[in-house]
Amino acid sequence: MLELNRMNTLLSAAGTTIFTVMSALANEHGAINLGQGFPDTEGPRDVVQAAADALLDDRNQYPPLTGLPELRQAVAAANARFWGLDIDPAAGVVVTSGATEALAACLMATLNPGDEVVLIEPLYDTYLPVIRLLGAVPRLVRLQPPDWALPREALAAAFGPRTRAILLNTPMNPTGKVFTADELAFIAGLVRAHGAVAICDEVYEHLVFPPARHVPLMTLPGMAERCLRVGSAGKTFSLTGWKVGYVSGPPALIGVVARAHQNLTFTTPPNLQRAVALGLAKDDAYFAGLAASLAAKAERLSAGLAAIGFRVLPTQGSYFVTADYSPLGFTGDDQAFCRHITEQAGVAAIPVSAFYEAEPPRRWVRFAFCKKDEVLDEACARLARHFAARAVAA
Ligand code: GLN
Repeated sequence: MLELNRMNTLLSAAGTTIFTVMSALANEHGAINLGQGFPDTEGPRDVVQAAADALLDDRNQYPPLTGLPELRQAVAAANARFWGLDIDPAAGVVVTSGATEALAACLMATLNPGDEVVLIEPLYDTYLPVIRLLGAVPRLVRLQPPDWALPREALAAAFGPRTRAILLNTPMNPTGKVFTADELAFIAGLVRAHGAVAICDEVYEHLVFPPARHVPLMTLPGMAERCLRVGSAGKTFSLTGWKVGYVSGPPALIGVVARAHQNLTFTTPPNLQRAVALGLAKDDAYFAGLAASLAAKAERLSAGLAAIGFRVLPTQGSYFVTADYSPLGFTGDDQAFCRHITEQAGVAAIPVSAFYEAEPPRRWVRFAFCKKDEVLDEACARLARHFAARAVAA
């Protein structure tokens, strides 16, 4: 048998992603899964039907490397409609197998071994492994609860002569933070001053709750030529299993992203691409309705958790809300808390420490609210019963 030490060192040493770990634990204990972020309802019927129809009309061979023309057109049109961005559908878009692939392709396209990339914690769990596999060097800046404010001095200090890129996630997982125009202007200034590229993880671009407003970094002065903007049909159409993503940017950068994509997956299933093209052309009411529905769910779950005694932070977008459990009297760390509520209360969540590299904040958890109202209510009822019983026992 091959020894593990003959395999890639970084991957051999890596654990299973927290999302898979918590979903498995939730299944094992029959817990309501407010951990891994996925809706428990189907996406729009017309989009799903379009994908089904497209399987049956004899167009199932390899689509073009950068994506079907109709989807690249739709991505460019959506960039113009929602954000006023001028994207070339022929040379400014690459369709990928999920934003996960898109992000890996952007990092591959941008970084050489030894290059530095600036990242903001808490961060999504695929960023660091890919950066390290490329031999690049992460420079981490951290946001802290409860306000998740951007530490501007630390961010400026993280940029240096070897900085090649920044990876920015807004709306942000797990915090639900939507970076303000002022914060983005500060970031854009640093990116321009250092001649860097910005990889913009905007998978939650349409899941933003007014009065918060999403501003793509790419819309700021001088940024269109140095941003790679990543979107995800999984999030925009509540079809997370589809794994259709897209990168938009200037042709000079997108051409290199296409070289990365051709070595990762080369293409993405054509029926799903055709359905997503139809989805992106849906009327404004669809997109506003999606955000409004999630905003209401965010409020419902936040109010329920607050009534139980959690200290719940405001969320401005994404599928997620974060909360401090220490007022409930639980003294273990966030991993222990998530395990405890999954096993004992029948509700799963994600420990926020999983989004930090080292010395994370230790009493914050992330709950996903992209679930049916009755599921959110039942989750709160279970937690309320559990913590009421614990209080009596203590
Ligand atoms: N992005 C989802 C989350 O943050 C999970 C995706 C995954 O399981 N890889 O919960």
